[in-house]
Amino acid sequence: MTITKKLILVPIIVLLVVGVSSTFMLDFYLQSVWKQRVKEELSGIAASAMVAVNALGQDADTASLDALADRLGKSSGARITFVDGEGVVLGDSDLLLEELHQAKSLKSRPEIQSAIRGGYGFNERYSATVDSESMYVATQVTSKHAAAQREPAGESRFVIARAALPLSSIEKSIAGIRWRYGLIIIASLTSVVLIALIASRLLARAIANERKGLEQRVAARTKEISLLQNMSGLLNACTTVDEAGKILKQILPQLLPEMTGAISIVKSHRDKFSVVAHWGAEWPGMESFESSQCWALRKGHYHTSKEQETNVVCEHLNDNLQGEATCMPLLAQGETFGVLHLINAASHASDNQFKIAISAAEQIGLALANLHLRNDLRQQAIRDPLTGIYNRRYMMETLQQEFSRAKRLHSTIGLLMVDLDHFKRFNDTLGHDTGDLILKRVARELQKNSRAEDTVCRFGGEEFCLVCPDISLENAQYLAEKFRKRIRNLDIRINHKPIDTVTLSVGVALFPHHAHDADLLLKSADEALYRAKAEGRDRVVVSLVNKSGVKSQFLLI
Ligand code: GH3
Ligand code: MG
Ligand code: MG
Repeated sequence: MTITKKLILVPIIVLLVVGVSSTFMLDFYLQSVWKQRVKEELSGIAASAMVAVNALGQDADTASLDALADRLGKSSGARITFVDGEGVVLGDSDLLLEELHQAKSLKSRPEIQSAIRGGYGFNERYSATVDSESMYVATQVTSKHAAAQREPAGESRFVIARAALPLSSIEKSIAGIRWRYGLIIIASLTSVVLIALIASRLLARAIANERKGLEQRVAARTKEISLLQNMSGLLNACTTVDEAGKILKQILPQLLPEMTGAISIVKSHRDKFSVVAHWGAEWPGMESFESSQCWALRKGHYHTSKEQETNVVCEHLNDNLQGEATCMPLLAQGETFGVLHLINAASHASDNQFKIAISAAEQIGLALANLHLRNDLRQQAIRDPLTGIYNRRYMMETLQQEFSRAKRLHSTIGLLMVDLDHFKRFNDTLGHDTGDLILKRVARELQKNSRAEDTVCRFGGEEFCLVCPDISLENAQYLAEKFRKRIRNLDIRINHKPIDTVTLSVGVALFPHHAHDADLLLKSADEALYRAKAEGRDRVVVSLVNKSGVKSQFLLI
């Protein structure tokens, strides 16, 4: 059973039970009260009759008693009867004077007997005369004169006045009250039903509205959770900060609509932050700033600029900032990777918006930490730890990629194999640390003087290798020569004292002239380097190996 049905049925049942039981109780009470009243009334009438009989005095003969009974009967509405001590009727309001002698003796009537014995009698019984249950009250009056008229001296010298009323009138009155009471019960029952119906309708509507609101809230929360999960999944799949910025620019406005936002990411310099993505209205702040300019970064905790109570605005935000701006540091593993900025121009951010922003900031922080970690690992895997330039593994990968590109585009790849001359001597004379320093300086110089599209790697030990896509043999040779001269002119000092000149030898090979795959190209460049060493070092030599890997004396280009 639904709650609304219960709401209607329960009060109806309660009201019915209360109504029926109270009707019975009231009925019983009314009957007893009413009868008591009638009894008292009849007693009063009988008492008045006695007074009237006494007032008659010596004139109290049968005719006068009957006339008195008629008068009293008319005025009171009750049946008045006068009887003597033998029950003989002396007067009756319902009988004519002539009929009196035919009237039966009333001595056997209980009320008369009680009145003869004790002066007062009462009875309730069926009366054939009025065809109804009737109530009788009889009182004895000692009337010397009245009795003297009929009774011999020494015998019963009293008159009994009896007043009677049919109970049908009582029943009628009670039925009237009962009827009115019934109407009241029906009316209250109807109003209770109506009120219950209206209440149940209103309740059902309120429940439906509440349920709808709840469903909407659940749907909104579900959407937020799935957006947060989606964002986290996508961020973890990002390989660059720019990619992450694009994802955040798409998802955060859906998570935090009505807000203008931006993400600032820490640059390689730990203290510099740059805005990588912003959404909503125009970004009212600097594109890059230092950590000291953001209160959230200084506190290590979120900060709200233009808050109602405090009005401490971050320096990186414009002075004419509209609304509240909250900066949340993007932290993970104790490191700060950026800041999430949110501006609520209209009003104060709701609790829910704030919770979403905090969850989003946590996830972005973790994702950025992962990104940094992956980038660090990748860099470690592809970079040489001493010089910071790419390692041999990375060079081999790049060479393969360049080969497929060059074959597709019918372009060239120049390979420069560089080896420092007599490097062992530097180690032996100046120490290993100086040897390391020379390697770093050479690497930096090679990097600085190469083209943007060239890949400079440490091939191993004191050997370097350059992959130069889309280059002619002349230019490759020219580049190698440039390197040789630059390194030769390097001014390296240890304790302010210049060291011996560092020289290098370079072997040059070109795809497709000298080789048709990566291994052969490396072999060709190596062969040229070997010859440069053999011919006296500090020089650039072009490979003599042909496409099929056979060394020829002269190279035809
Ligand atoms: P060549 O002109 O024939 O190339 O003579 P070289 O001495 O340069 O060649 P060799 O192969 O005999 O010696 C290479 C030296 O490079 C030996 C090794 O100690 C040194 N070396 C290799 N890797 C490092 C390094 O990481 N740091 C330092 N300091 N020395 C290194
Ligand atoms: Mg060497
Ligand atoms: Mg070597």
